[in-house]
Amino acid sequence: MRLTRKLDKLGRIVIPKNIRREMGIEANDKLMLDYKNGVVIISIHEDCICDRCGRATLSKYKFCPDCGKKIVR
Ligand SMILES: [Zn+2]
Repeated sequence: MRLTRKLDKLGRIVIPKNIRREMGIEANDKLMLDYKNGVVIISIHEDCICDRCGRATLSKYKFCPDCGKKIVR
């Protein structure tokens, strides 16, 4: 997927809703930015990755809400 976004005056960009949903991220989630050879990669911070599915979860939990529910059953 390739998208074009304009940087605002404060250096911010918006991650489109469909990508946020796909990643399982929402406001205040911790992300990592890696920059190499002119490319910026935005990923879920390693402290906040669900051990089962790789989607975002709060750093105090091992699993995202969906996987946590599956385990309880
Ligand atoms: Zn999960």
